[in-house]
Amino acid sequence: MKLRIDQIKDSPQAFEFSADDSWSRAAIAVVPELGAEGGEVPHAQVRAYRVGQDLLIEGRLEGSLGLECSRCLARYRHALSEPFRLVLEPAGRRLPADPEAAKALATQGFCLGDELEMGWFQGHELDLTSLFLEAVALALPVQPLCREACQGLCPQCGVDRNDAACDCAAPRESSPFAILASLKE
Ligand SMILES: [Zn+2]
Ligand SMILES: [Zn+2]
Repeated sequence: MKLRIDQIKDSPQAFEFSADDSWSRAAIAVVPELGAEGGEVPHAQVRAYRVGQDLLIEGRLEGSLGLECSRCLARYRHALSEPFRLVLEPAGRRLPADPEAAKALATQGFCLGDELEMGWFQGHELDLTSLFLEAVALALPVQPLCREACQGLCPQCGVDRNDAACDCAAPRESSPFAILASLKE
């Protein structure tokens, strides 16, 4: 997941990063759902060019996660399509005040500031691996859903309401408990 700085020209160049072994291992170690059934370690399409002294790097990570629906518990494939964009200016003789950023600049060739899309670069090569790992980790849904309208399982008989209806009585909204619950919210 390395981009050589001398390959970045004034006109946009396209770079393709396939999911090779070392990237796949690193990605699955951080996000095991990429290696689960239905998961696919993302590949990256990158477009990079120079604007004056600055480097502009943008692209998209595409793959999928193998997840379990939080409503119906079915396993499903969750498509990932994560855009990213960086504007990096030459660090020159400057050193980031934040030790983490200084370390990143030394080891991966760039660091990002508080505004996550802006940063500095130095050296000959940008290692985008940890940036990509972070993007994938952030893409994990908090409440996975196989589809927006998933009906889930009946809490009483356990039938998958997406497949079948059941005769269980719907919880009565007018019960005192329901009123208490709504007050709590
Ligand atoms: Zn579901
Ligand atoms: Zn039921």
